[in-house]
Amino acid sequence: MNTQRSWVFKALGDIRMAKKPRPKPKKVVKIAGIYGVASGEIKRKNRFCPKCGVGVFMANHANRIACGRCGYSEMKKPTS
Ligand SMILES: [Zn+2]
Repeated sequence: MNTQRSWVFKALGDIRMAKKPRPKPKKVVKIAGIYGVASGEIKRKNRFCPKCGVGVFMANHANRIACGRCGYSEMKKPTS
């Protein structure tokens, strides 16, 4: 039967469509914002998290620095 054939091909097509990998949005890490080059040396602007260890940067907020991974936060000293 022709109708059955077409149904099978349609199902195969659906499987192929489902298996087709979709492009994932890439998370762009702003390295220029994290690292700063001063007098030939690369210096990290953000601190590492004391709880998570080296590799986990603290997010720089206006009045505090916070870790997005464990939630640890430190209040900044008022600069006056
Ligand atoms: Zn942390």
